Amino acid sequence: MMLSAQDTEVESSVADWARLAESALTGLDDADFRTRWRALAALGTLGDAPSPRRDEVPRPGPVTGAVAAVEGIGLAGTEAGLCYAMASQRFGIQFPLRAVLPERTWRDLGDVEGGEVLLCHALTEEGGGSDPLSMTTRAERQADGTYLLTGRKSFVTAAPVADVALVFARTASERSPFALSPFLVDLRAQGVERDGPFPKTALVEAPMGSLEFTGVRLPADRLVGEEGSGLALLTVTTAWERALLLSYALGPMRRVLARTVEWCRSRRHFGRRMGSSHLVAARVSDMALALHRSRELVYRIAARLDGGARPRQLSADAALTKISVAEDYLRFAQQAAMLGGVRSFIEESGLTADLLTPMAASTYAGPNDLLRVTVARELGLPVEN
Ligand SMILES: Cc1cc2nc3c(=O)[nH]c(=O)nc-3n(C[C@H](O)[C@H](O)[C@H](O)COP(=O)(O)OP(=O)(O)OC[C@H]3O[C@@H](n4cnc5c(N)ncnc54)[C@H](O)[C@@H]3O)c2cc1C
Repeated sequence: MMLSAQDTEVESSVADWARLAESALTGLDDADFRTRWRALAALGTLGDAPSPRRDEVPRPGPVTGAVAAVEGIGLAGTEAGLCYAMASQRFGIQFPLRAVLPERTWRDLGDVEGGEVLLCHALTEEGGGSDPLSMTTRAERQADGTYLLTGRKSFVTAAPVADVALVFARTASERSPFALSPFLVDLRAQGVERDGPFPKTALVEAPMGSLEFTGVRLPADRLVGEEGSGLALLTVTTAWERALLLSYALGPMRRVLARTVEWCRSRRHFGRRMGSSHLVAARVSDMALALHRSRELVYRIAARLDGGARPRQLSADAALTKISVAEDYLRFAQQAAMLGGVRSFIEESGLTADLLTPMAASTYAGPNDLLRVTVARELGLPVEN
């Protein structure tokens, strides 16, 4: 396969991150989520340094570099839940917030890049997942300019372990595009309670939980941007997520493809090697195709962001990228599970298949069904959610 100079740089960068991640996590198999998070963050995976390459080697842009870092830690065999949580913070919170927050406010949050301060994105409520305007969490402005935050956010990745949450709350009662506002909430503040982590069946290593706010007092400078700008910021955070969150799947997909090829080459039945069946070969090719398409889409949109494209302008392409990669990831996992036979369903077999983690990708960062509606609307169909 011919690789362009840009592909070669990215490939080298992914390999470097993989090597570094593997060594950083050595001896930490039984460590908790935050310890493993810190070990990876200490390498610079969450920072601006886009690549651990030597200086004389041209580096990919910061967004492409961040995707390569996420792919690399996955390629090292890091658990999918940790890769997902890191990608979620990096793309769904860090990049969008850095673009809107004054430098001083960002620095006041503490050492996010170094992994000492962990962020979470608190939007979903029990009663309203896909429909943010149905949220009931509210932030009421007080006479002294502070806000009082009341409500409950559910199904939030990293909520049980995070330090600061980006919380979307209602600052006006009507169902209008300007009714929501974003706040940075210190999760150690009085009036904040957490539930979780609760056991889940996908991305099992990423702790998920709820946040309960009972009259939490927020200084005025905790408001991100202007009052009423919540939906606008949400458009940006979700565009980033839809474009790049699934970069976390690329490393695990590469590992599964490699082990499936090895399995098909070594497994013998019907007096020959399994990989000599054309049907088996076609399934392996389909897996390679799904991985190829996913990498191309994710790195292409990363390169556009590096090139200065604004996330808001990319929202339709980000939705198409998310749908495509999520669906390819699921088909890929199904092919691998088929080829692994019974071993796909045996723990510790070396071929265990995880079908629920790829399935979950059809739900987070906007359910694929609703994203399809958005794409069709942008194409001119008179269709509403
Ligand atoms: C692994 C994981 C991590 C997550 N992390 C976070 C997080 O960090 N922060 C956070 O705030 N949330 C998080 N979520 C929650 C996620 O954002 C919501 O699950 C998502 O917004 C969908 O909401 P819902 O699950 O309530 O689905 P619902 O809104 O109940 O929709 C369920 C399904 O109904 C169908 N449907 C509903 N309405 C329509 C319609 N109008 N048109 C077509 N189809 C429709 C779709 O098939 C949709 O998938 C996470 C979810 C998962 C799975």
